[in-house]
Amino acid sequence: MTRIHLLSEHVASQIAAGEVVQRPASVVRELVDNSLDAGAGRISIEVAKGGNTLIRVTDDGCGMSQEDLPMALRRHATSKIESEADLMSIRTFGFRGEALAAISSVSHVELVSRQPSERHGYRLEAAGNEVKSVEPIGVPPGTRVTVSDLFFNTPARKKFLKSPTTEMDRVIEIFLRTAMSNPSIHFELIHNERKVRTLPPVPSRIDRLLQIFGGEVVSELLAVDYMNDLIQVAGFTSRATLHRNTASDIYFFVNGRFVRDRLLLRSLIESYRASLPQRRYPVTVLFIQLPPEYVDVNVHPSKEEIRFRDERLVWNVLYTALREALESGEATPHLHSASHKEPEMIPGLQPTPLPREPVPQHQKDDFPFPDPPVVASTPPPTPLTKPPLITRPETSLPDEPVWHKQGAEPNLPSSIEPIAPIVDLNRGPLSSLAEAKTQVMLPSSKNIAWVPLAQVFDSYIIAQKGDEMAIFDQHALHERIQFEKFRESYQTRSLSSQKLLFPVTVEIPLQRQGILQESQDFLAEIGFELDPFGGSTFLVQSVPADLSLGEVQGFLEDALEDLAAIGKVAPVGDRVEKILARMACRSAVKAGDQLSPPQMEDLLGHFSEMPTLATCPHGRPPIWRISRRELEKWFDR
Ligand code: ADP
Ligand code: MG
Repeated sequence: MTRIHLLSEHVASQIAAGEVVQRPASVVRELVDNSLDAGAGRISIEVAKGGNTLIRVTDDGCGMSQEDLPMALRRHATSKIESEADLMSIRTFGFRGEALAAISSVSHVELVSRQPSERHGYRLEAAGNEVKSVEPIGVPPGTRVTVSDLFFNTPARKKFLKSPTTEMDRVIEIFLRTAMSNPSIHFELIHNERKVRTLPPVPSRIDRLLQIFGGEVVSELLAVDYMNDLIQVAGFTSRATLHRNTASDIYFFVNGRFVRDRLLLRSLIESYRASLPQRRYPVTVLFIQLPPEYVDVNVHPSKEEIRFRDERLVWNVLYTALREALESGEATPHLHSASHKEPEMIPGLQPTPLPREPVPQHQKDDFPFPDPPVVASTPPPTPLTKPPLITRPETSLPDEPVWHKQGAEPNLPSSIEPIAPIVDLNRGPLSSLAEAKTQVMLPSSKNIAWVPLAQVFDSYIIAQKGDEMAIFDQHALHERIQFEKFRESYQTRSLSSQKLLFPVTVEIPLQRQGILQESQDFLAEIGFELDPFGGSTFLVQSVPADLSLGEVQGFLEDALEDLAAIGKVAPVGDRVEKILARMACRSAVKAGDQLSPPQMEDLLGHFSEMPTLATCPHGRPPIWRISRRELEKWFDR
């Protein structure tokens, strides 16, 4: 009895197809790659229902002959390589000769193609890899591939297709990244018969990025330009002031091909080490050119993974290129190129520009980038086991903490300054440092509440309660207080919203608009109302009352990224928590904000009322306590 047998051609081709075609976006990627290989100057991508029912890519490239049309659908049939040696120096996107075969084995395919030298073209129809007909047809030069009913003959795989919005997001991602690396090509994206995006050809990469990301992001990009005798690294990367919640705005192209590569990502993150807040990622678009024989692109059927012959060299070159760019801080050239169109304004309605919050300088050292970045976790605070270095006050006071000297003397009469009334930390400008310095505060005789003594580095509050002292992280603390407050208000449906007299504009990139649309109801519940305003611009009509206008753009970016990352399958409760946490973070005082004594008092007052805050399982610890006994031990008392 033999147990081993050869698989039928049909099963074998289904298995092979599975590696290439996982979803509509992979079909789009393969078809667009073919159009690029065909030397197209215009590429149009049309999909219906996120590509689940229709995918059509049209180009004005070199076309195919009548004989080549059926050949194109055969497995291992390609015009791009011939010998094994060619594998070592691939200069085209395709070369495996399996994309069209794979696609046509799981869908209905129509190929329409005309070579420019011919007077007419041909139309081929196929289903499940069987050619039905080839006939002449009058068409302009180029190729049009139409794929309908994806996975019609593999119902099990069809079940894995996500909602049209999710699949569409992935198609948009392919569209954008292909457009990014080919600025001289005219791109067009049509969804459900509606033109979603047109990108006319532009003279340079930065102009293309301007079309894709908009002026606000592009003005934060630094030019990367580095070359040695083997490798060239060119492109753009954001100043440390612009960062994202995930690595989704990091794009690497190796010899024009978009790749996902851990080595490149780690080199990038390493080059930003310590200059980005914890778990934040830059916006980066980099083009790496090196001789084809130094990269193996034949590692994965989707060709998004590659292998470098000399990894260390690539790592070093990338790191050096990025460090140079970040250190020089030189803005990108052609920034004010004419091709950037500001969103049209409605007469009489001037959208207020959104100020971007700079990253406080000292935060840089607080949060070194964890390694590896993908599984980033918060390091536990280092216990204070050693006494701090002692500096003699008269010779050096480098970072000058704002100590309220009188407070250091014990048992002063409690009649000194009345503590100012509690202020709402969310409203009004924070009081000036001068005010903070003139106020005098004393540990309260009562032992129930934490009493703030001083703020140091504009980020931490030193406080005392009975026989204990503590250092609070002002941002972490306020963030938690806000979170608890928002959660309660959400549950009681009492989150307040603020209608804006003059709507402000925000930019939502195309690939986030699907998730925005899906989350609209839910955003409305927390007080957000947005209306589309053309392209990537949206008008914000109302905002949650606790969020300042300057934080709206950043909040939406973070929130939509979070929602996209956890996906629709996540329970509603989780999604709500994520969003409320983002809102808490954005509405909390920042590290670097000077706080007046009443403001500190207010914060610690809330903390004392909500003892569970200190034990909350998420996020960074807001408090670090030191007992009197511990202090005494430090000083050998
Ligand atoms: P590969 O791209 O790896 O060669 P494909 O299955 O994607 O394999 O395509 C098979 C062949 O069909 C290509 O080698 C090319 O000659 C031809 N072809 C496919 N798409 C186009 C197109 N848009 N324009 C011209 N020729 C095309
Ligand atoms: Mg191909």
